[in-house]
Amino acid sequence: MQTTWLNEDLDQTIFEVGARVSMRVGKKLFEGQSDFQKLEIYETPHYGNMMVLDGCVMLTEANEFSYHEMIAHVPLFAHPNPERVLIIGGGDGGAAREVLRHPQVKECVMVEIDGLVIEKSKEYFPTIASEFNNPRLTLLVDDGVKYIENNKTAFDVILVDSTDPVGPAEGLFSKDFYQKAYNSLKPNGILVAQAESPYYFKRTQRELFDVLHSVFSYATLYTTNIPFYPSGMWSFAYASKEYKENTNPRYTDMEKMEENLQYFNRKLYEGCFALPTFVKKNIEKK
Ligand code: SAM
Repeated sequence: MQTTWLNEDLDQTIFEVGARVSMRVGKKLFEGQSDFQKLEIYETPHYGNMMVLDGCVMLTEANEFSYHEMIAHVPLFAHPNPERVLIIGGGDGGAAREVLRHPQVKECVMVEIDGLVIEKSKEYFPTIASEFNNPRLTLLVDDGVKYIENNKTAFDVILVDSTDPVGPAEGLFSKDFYQKAYNSLKPNGILVAQAESPYYFKRTQRELFDVLHSVFSYATLYTTNIPFYPSGMWSFAYASKEYKENTNPRYTDMEKMEENLQYFNRKLYEGCFALPTFVKKNIEKK
């Protein structure tokens, strides 16, 4: 495969430190501009196809499991009986694929703003967009900010699987959004949101946790490793009305499912909430 370097220059305004992530890529398989963002898809010599949105690497076929298993299984196993799950974003289908592994889930509603991401994920990432025809999935092409505003139903778990807090995803980091998400959760509901890199997004994490602490009685963070994401260390905010991560997690169910997974397991569930001191300090309630 003829390859060149693809460079993701981390923007000083968002990442707070100038840095660059470079990956070897082969042919550009697709490029398109939707109403919301630029979508590019590349083949790569070692990681399968790669999705890039507005110049930021979203996922590769080879490594996407660490993000999707961790965004879905941590909250769903922390909850005693997650029957209704809402995913905001997640247009590649990975989070939905993992949510639908749980037999308790009767309905998963997925609200993705960009139909182009859904359409091209089906074409170029069939192992990720593998559950779009699942009868338990309700797939809506809409703005998650608007959806949560008008939503009158209650969910056990809400996952915010969004891009960075710029452009269409900016509203997904606001107090107004999280207040409405709180109102869309059942009394024992749990919310998890992709919360960026603890190294490069300190200001964003501080601002996000100021919001979460003002809306939820309990909010913390857990981490995962994502090779092509800035710094490789990534995180998810965990906010809850009742169930903390150690209230009564379904360990037996975890042990049953982990044989079919590549990243998540029971030991990792217990370990991923252990945070470096600089991270803990940056997100604690003021
Ligand atoms: N799941 C991927 C991964 O493995 O890291 C990355 C996240 S996913 C591609 C981010 C999605 O959030 C994109 O498809 C984007 O269109 C969607 N999104 C951004 N803002 C949104 C909004 N306001 N409402 C719904 N979806 C939104």
